[in-house]
Amino acid sequence: MAFESLQVGRVRRRASWFAAVALLAGCAVNPATGEREISLVSESQEIEMGRSSDPAATAQFGGLYPDDGLQSYVSQIGQRLAAQSERPNLPWSFKVVDHELINAFALPGGFIYVTRGILSHMNSEAELAAVLGHEVGHVTARHTAQQITRQQLGVIGLIGASIFSETVRQNQGIAVAGMGLLLLRYGRDAEREADALGFRYMTRTGHHPEGMSRVMQTLASTSPTSAEMGIPSWLLSHPDPGDRVAANDRRIASAGASLDGLEIREAALLEHLDGLVFGPDPRAGFFIAERFVHPTLRFEITYPRGWTVVNGPEAVDGISPDETAALQVTFASEASLDAAMGAFASIEGVEIIESGSMRTNGLDTRAATFVAGTPDGQMLAGRVHFVSHGGDIYRLLAYAGEESWRRGAGEGAVNAMETFEALSSGEFRNVAPDRIRIVRLERAMTGAQFLAAYPSTVTDEEVLLANQVEADQQLERGRLMKQIAGGHIPRS
Ligand SMILES: [Zn+2]
Repeated sequence: MAFESLQVGRVRRRASWFAAVALLAGCAVNPATGEREISLVSESQEIEMGRSSDPAATAQFGGLYPDDGLQSYVSQIGQRLAAQSERPNLPWSFKVVDHELINAFALPGGFIYVTRGILSHMNSEAELAAVLGHEVGHVTARHTAQQITRQQLGVIGLIGASIFSETVRQNQGIAVAGMGLLLLRYGRDAEREADALGFRYMTRTGHHPEGMSRVMQTLASTSPTSAEMGIPSWLLSHPDPGDRVAANDRRIASAGASLDGLEIREAALLEHLDGLVFGPDPRAGFFIAERFVHPTLRFEITYPRGWTVVNGPEAVDGISPDETAALQVTFASEASLDAAMGAFASIEGVEIIESGSMRTNGLDTRAATFVAGTPDGQMLAGRVHFVSHGGDIYRLLAYAGEESWRRGAGEGAVNAMETFEALSSGEFRNVAPDRIRIVRLERAMTGAQFLAAYPSTVTDEEVLLANQVEADQQLERGRLMKQIAGGHIPRS
């Protein structure tokens, strides 16, 4: 959970623009590829889709990364690429989001995001230009609009579902409500096209396309873990990096001397990565076995043993091993416990069975058991606690299918709700993430000697990977390298 948490209700409301997509099919010329195509989505609709999804997409990936210098640098590189594209007049924006996973993505209309995780694995401005150029290519070639045109009914079905039914019906564990747009995967042809367009734009901004081959190789050697977020990672959504590197190398070969004078610009990027948070940020919450601790919001809660629990930017979501019961901790948007309970009780389909006041480890709490009908006709049963802590109202929501609930599927979740507790004042005050420190080598050395001379607090493997060097590789004097240190992440 991040500070500025998005309420579930707000996420759900965003779904409406999909339904508003006009059903008027038109034949238009694709601005980037020059081909004629059927499109259900006009340019102003593309912009509206991107603009209305931008706040939730930003929040989903941890919010804006708090470094103005880095933000304006990435934005400036992105704007230069966009200006060289076939659609320079879109309301382009380029944001660094505060997420450790390696990812970059685009919303229609020109809203583009890179995570701090992908930046931490880059080693030159040309690599950044390659990733941004590729995402610009998805926008200029209208790939998302094409996907929507192709899958319109499916998409409406996907994100029209409420959070209740989505979790239970899809039976996929952790639901990410309403992020249908980001779940769209482009086809293989769209990826090839975005690579070719990225090549075109980055060469126009003076960046050597060797950067594209390098970043593809780097990303291929990192392991895709973002499946757990329910959103395809850059790698998962961009298959066959080997093929794509080969295709890029062919483009470089055939461009020949026209690439003379283009630059990789290692230092320009690396200087901006000094101080960048690397890996998980424990200030946004961490786990010690089943115990979830949020040192910034100053609370903890212990989930039942064996549950799968994901700490997302908007909520902490847990699901039982047999996936019959769920427990979500999030903020309520109302200002008081009674208002929060009142709003919950008035959700369409929710029927309160009994309710009352209690205290949870000394914290004021309103509690209720309920049944709820989902839009697709299922019945759920559950228990909700609203807990007042640190000036915020927390919503703890346990639920299961009505039958399962009656058979006791929710017992573990209800017990877990009662473990919600304020952290004592001194506890976990000193947690800190690891950060990248850019160092300049004072003498030539190997990768292994670098690890010894500039100790990091993450594994050797992670340091070498982030720098894209091998242990036995010779590194020249004066080279800029990433040392990764400073983390204090409690393990027990
Ligand atoms: Zn792509």
